[in-house]
Amino acid sequence: MSADRYDVIVIGTGPGGAALAHRLAPTGKRILMIERGDYLPRSQANWDAKTVFVDAAYQTKETWYGKDGEAFHPGLHYFVGGNSKVYGAALFRLRERDFDEVKHEGGISPAWPLKYDTFEPYYAQAEQLFHVHGARGEDPTEPPSQTPYPYPAVAHEPRIAELDATFAREGLHPFHLPLGVLLEEKNGVAAPASPWFRNDAFDGFPCLLNGKADAQVMCVNPMLAAHANVTLLTNALATRLETDPSGRTLSVVDVLREGAQERYCADIVVVACGALSSALLLLRSANDRHPHGLANGSDQVGRNYVRHNQSVLMALAREPNDTVFQKTLGLSDFYFGAGDCDHPLGLIQMMGKSHPEEIRAEALPEWLSWMPEMPFELMARHSLDFWLMSEDLPRPENRIRIGHDGRVILELTENNMRAHQRLRAKLEHLMDAANAHPHLLERKLYLGKDIPIGGTAHQAGTARFGTDPAQSVLDLDCKAHELDNLYLADASFFPSIGAVNPTLTIIANALRVADGIAERLGATRAISGSTEDRTCRG
Ligand SMILES: Cc1cc2nc3c(=O)[nH]c(=O)nc-3n(C[C@H](O)[C@H](O)[C@H](O)COP(=O)(O)OP(=O)(O)OC[C@H]3O[C@@H](n4cnc5c(N)ncnc54)[C@H](O)[C@@H]3O)c2cc1C
Repeated sequence: MSADRYDVIVIGTGPGGAALAHRLAPTGKRILMIERGDYLPRSQANWDAKTVFVDAAYQTKETWYGKDGEAFHPGLHYFVGGNSKVYGAALFRLRERDFDEVKHEGGISPAWPLKYDTFEPYYAQAEQLFHVHGARGEDPTEPPSQTPYPYPAVAHEPRIAELDATFAREGLHPFHLPLGVLLEEKNGVAAPASPWFRNDAFDGFPCLLNGKADAQVMCVNPMLAAHANVTLLTNALATRLETDPSGRTLSVVDVLREGAQERYCADIVVVACGALSSALLLLRSANDRHPHGLANGSDQVGRNYVRHNQSVLMALAREPNDTVFQKTLGLSDFYFGAGDCDHPLGLIQMMGKSHPEEIRAEALPEWLSWMPEMPFELMARHSLDFWLMSEDLPRPENRIRIGHDGRVILELTENNMRAHQRLRAKLEHLMDAANAHPHLLERKLYLGKDIPIGGTAHQAGTARFGTDPAQSVLDLDCKAHELDNLYLADASFFPSIGAVNPTLTIIANALRVADGIAERLGATRAISGSTEDRTCRG
């Protein structure tokens, strides 16, 4: 079977793959995007909490296995736009110190081989591309930046403004969350032409308005509309990558599409399937020259998997919380430590408000006994909802691999959990000041039912970049050490994950990798100046 030939093939249309392709599109090079999923169907069900969280209708039904053989469904979403179709769009830069070695209570977070100053200009471009709203200078751990946020912060609604004031009275420095939304607003009211308006079905939901800055809306749609040189294949699963006999050059991408096997080739292949699926694709592509998986002479592919120690917590306030869009406030005062602890604890941020259907479906026996007469609707009305994130540390034994019987096995041993527990205790203490019950209630459905192992939303670190081919899979350009034309452009390159949401770093790095590829293709001039926002409709 002969193979169709392209200049560049990009596998995966999540933020990594889509941002990279969007950057390369103006070069006029023939680009093929290969996506295993379809477009996420737009329907009223997108905004139904039962459909999204209880039935997990958009999550993959794939079964993977833990190290003890326990079956679970990973919290992954296979659509054009990848996991960003359901993400919360909190778009953070890693802190400057996250690029250095950081000592944690539970061990060491290793240094990155490139530092913040390399990424800074790309962060600025990523913020532009994904319409980030925010306010510089509020977040005490924010790294230096050359540019303001492209769009003003999304204002707090009254109850969240109160919480902001409470935290400030406690001597803390709450800030407006950096958010990727297509919002034009005056005094809390959306302008008539604003694509997005405040609603309570954003965080974890697909956006019915196409007003969330996801990879499909910000990159794939405008790119396909403007560039005939880019082709997208949907429902196309990349099953294997083949090399030439030398093993140095990737020659063919095998694809299963609508039941038929197809073959594509390109001068350059970029894998951006999400950190877990990218590692799987490399492992499944073992051949004589790469007996343990493609680019895996170091035995590092799939290892050092990180995904944050994370909790979704709900407090019940004494007064009702009628906030519609709650995800506007963050707190980083404990990011690198606290008065009573020298080690990093992590980040606190608000998230979407609890819906009664979600609360009803959670297994919450302890706190039901606290207020048995309180119906779920009332609990939802009184809830204050938080997302807590602490760093988990890369360990070679935390890995994704393929078992002898072809099963996918995700081996995970939690670490550095004491920091996360301390962070939770800090929030509990603060809830007293916020006139809420200090007992925080765990909500698991947001991340999928199979927590902790199924909590793959922030997947990273399975093919880290570095200078030493014995310790890393990718070089500093995110090209595989062992192949001349294979690049990775998702979070697999992360040597560590910090404690901020990962996607802005994925996008920034994908733009950086794209620039390296453009240079290699002799097409740098074509993309200079192409970072302006073409999707602004405000
Ligand atoms: C509920 C939820 C909330 C989140 N909230 C936030 C947030 O607020 N802020 C933040 O920064 N991050 C958030 N995230 C994480 C964020 O979604 C991911 O960091 C981001 O989507 C990763 O981008 P990616 O391109 O690396 O991978 P993905 O988004 O996973 O995209 C990979 C793509 O590759 C496709 N693919 C996989 N394998 C193959 C194959 N073999 N062949 C072809 N195609 C393939 C997949 O279908 C997918 O479209 C959240 C995630 C979830 C699930």
